[in-house]
Amino acid sequence: MTLPRILVVSLGGTITMTTSAAGGITPTLTAEHLVASVPQLSSVASLEALTRFSLPGASLSIQNLTEVATLLKDRFAAGFDGAVVVQGTDTIEDTAFVLDLLTDGTHPVVVTGAMRGPQAAGADGPANILAAVTAAADRRLAGLGVVVVLNDEIHSARWVQKSHTGLTSAFTSPGTGCIGMVSEGRVELMMTPQRDIAPVKEALQHDSRVALVSLGLDEDGRLLPVLAELGYSGAVVEGMGAGHVPAGAAEAVARLATEMPVVLCTRVRAGRVFTKTYGFPGSEMDLIAKGAIPCGHLSAGKARLLLTLLLRSGASTDDIRQAFQPRGIAPATVSPKD
Ligand code: ASP
Repeated sequence: MTLPRILVVSLGGTITMTTSAAGGITPTLTAEHLVASVPQLSSVASLEALTRFSLPGASLSIQNLTEVATLLKDRFAAGFDGAVVVQGTDTIEDTAFVLDLLTDGTHPVVVTGAMRGPQAAGADGPANILAAVTAAADRRLAGLGVVVVLNDEIHSARWVQKSHTGLTSAFTSPGTGCIGMVSEGRVELMMTPQRDIAPVKEALQHDSRVALVSLGLDEDGRLLPVLAELGYSGAVVEGMGAGHVPAGAAEAVARLATEMPVVLCTRVRAGRVFTKTYGFPGSEMDLIAKGAIPCGHLSAGKARLLLTLLLRSGASTDDIRQAFQPRGIAPATVSPKD
């Protein structure tokens, strides 16, 4: 039987980290080391192991991910059946989403990592790599978008969040749950995620930056007026509840929306930003009428990345509004004044 050809590309992360002379664990292991530590892989797939970066998750950039997306496209064109990206868990919820936006979904792409380093008791890296390769080798994952596999759970990049700093069960998809499992060496799919955000097709050309400002209790939004001066070309305002900020911050949001696209999100981990329920100053209806773009179900972090990619690809304000309007949600009845 011919085994599927799977690329395992390592970007670094805890899964590659060993104790350094200076103290603490730092990235040292290569993709070859990771693959060699899991002998069972040889009966699942024919692998190429490649080390692209050796960085902690927090130091990866959109430029790094653009290079990874190009690498994946090239390998798929050369006949690979799927790919596993191994990296730090700190940014998996971000990088998987960016890769989802930068790839066309024709082949399974699985992102994994580990919560415990390879020298720790109960290291989860080998099990995660085995499960990730098993998922990447399953053709049924093609077309479902990039997925994240840890702790034998399969999560859609669109929904997944890191929800604990230390547990091996850190990855959850608040509001939806995982889409499947890897169990007894096989992929078990429970649901198909709606791919409601279009991939970003245009090349990323600009170095646009998007600020993420959280407005909690008693905030007045005084950071907002300096964002343009600091060189930001877009902003995500993370409000409370269904997309609410204090009344005293509403005018600052309105002024900002005349200067740059402002996307309205919530700090609540599940459920979407409303569009037509609350009418008080600082409510979602007030902010949308003042020009803010509701983010749907996206977390503020993922909304920042989507807006960044759109701005870098030269999207117009209309394109941006469209991109944040998921297909599953009827359009808002409140229209912006401008
Ligand atoms: N704690 C992180 C990890 O699990 C560190 C990182 O993101 O590089 O990999």
